[in-house]
Amino acid sequence: MKMLIGGEWADSSSGEACEVRNPANGKLLDTVPLGSTEDVKRAIDSARGALGKWSSMTARERGKILFKGAQIVRERQMDLAITLTMEQGKPLKEARDEIQGFANILEYYTGVSAAIHDSLVPVAPGRYGAVMKRPIGICGAIIPWNVPAIIMGWKVGPALLTGNALVLKPATATPLTNLSLAAILCEAGLPAGTLNVVTGQGSTVGEEIVRNPAIRKISFTGSIDTGKHVMKVAAESMKRLTLELGGSDPMIVCDDADMKKAVEGAVSGRFYNCGQTCTAVKRLYVFESIADTYIKMLKASIEGLKVGNGMDEGVNMGPMNSAGQRDKIIRQVDTVREKGEGKIIVGGGVPPGERYVGGHFYMPTLVTDVSEDSVLLREEVFGPVLPVVVVKDLDEAISRANASKFGLGSSIWTKSLERASIASSRLESGITWVNQHVKLPPEMPFGGVKESGIGRENGFETLDAYYELKSVMINL
Ligand code: NDP
Repeated sequence: MKMLIGGEWADSSSGEACEVRNPANGKLLDTVPLGSTEDVKRAIDSARGALGKWSSMTARERGKILFKGAQIVRERQMDLAITLTMEQGKPLKEARDEIQGFANILEYYTGVSAAIHDSLVPVAPGRYGAVMKRPIGICGAIIPWNVPAIIMGWKVGPALLTGNALVLKPATATPLTNLSLAAILCEAGLPAGTLNVVTGQGSTVGEEIVRNPAIRKISFTGSIDTGKHVMKVAAESMKRLTLELGGSDPMIVCDDADMKKAVEGAVSGRFYNCGQTCTAVKRLYVFESIADTYIKMLKASIEGLKVGNGMDEGVNMGPMNSAGQRDKIIRQVDTVREKGEGKIIVGGGVPPGERYVGGHFYMPTLVTDVSEDSVLLREEVFGPVLPVVVVKDLDEAISRANASKFGLGSSIWTKSLERASIASSRLESGITWVNQHVKLPPEMPFGGVKESGIGRENGFETLDAYYELKSVMINL
């Protein structure tokens, strides 16, 4: 595929390309242009050209185009899901859910378009103040490789609805789904140049998007280290920022929890997308009195997961997205083994067998007796490894859950409303689920506290992050 600048497919100015490979077998899927700073500047020029027309349309008119885009996405969901599975690795069903999730987000923002309006404030008899919502201008969106369609929806939906133009950079590993979705939005009637997709590396394309003063806001999803770097560079031109930087979500299983549901929730919450989800269950705290039974049930369920190519029928967990990501997991589990930081009771390595050769597979892994200073509790574990810690009560669970630099999601599993409300108010996270984990509908704000990020995506509130408020005083 090529990149998308000014509504046209484009090559990079250097003529160079980069490969996109299937993580399940290492086979070449396609190539995309290796973009440069020049290409970002071209995209900015075309966004600037599109901005006047796009921002002068009403939110309702813009919403209709997003809705048309969502309809086309639904019609082509199977083809898009196949592309997503082939470049990202997740099982086809998960990919299809994700593509539908992208359409859901666009439909949600279409639905709220009629609620966007300026307001008039009477300040004295015959005198009014108008509070106008103005688009920020050209925004930059930087997308990771783990959930590329949903995360694109979180950025594109509110940014476009509010009249901004966008320069979007997909992750190097997963540009194909993002390009296909952007092309569909153009087909749905988005004026040329409103949404530009520049493929290429973070160190060149991403860096220029963050540095270039013509871009007035950045919405970034990725690692904490890159997020901090983005914040520093963006400060030079005082850009607005939304940063979603991952987490280490705690899940608390109380002694009155429905054990079967709490096992299913932990397994889907941890091993969905091969553990590569920012709000995956990454630390599990279970009450002492039920720990033996619960861990036995958890072990049996994890042992039943079928690992394989996401395109194959019946596969529950695909490969990791890249060799580099798998190396990080190998290092973390090896550290546990070498330092005696826990007992690996399921998995703990690369699966043996011919069908896994060439892919970045890792076995679903369960670790118990995890020590407080273990790497699995200190670092983000972005892969299929679940550490379990036994606690005596809710107080201990909450204080251990909060002893982390992360603060994205958390969950409590209990039948007690009192415990649920204590946990919801005391857990230091942007989201707390009760008897569920991971899924969040488009109307709910998504984002973290502490080092998990700044700002929110999803939900009506996110629209505020794409406006500048302008006060106009009227004296007639
Ligand atoms: P990065 O933060 O490096 O990448 C995320 C996005 O940022 C990609 O599009 C990347 O481009 C881009 N990028 C990289 N460097 C820059 C830069 N200097 N300026 C602007 N954009 C840049 O994450 P990784 O893919 O390396 O993953 C590392 C870890 O981050 C994971 O192990 C996980 O812990 C965490 N992570 C969290 C995610 C989340 O959902 N919160 C998503 C992904 C990762 P490119 O692909 O070209 O490098």
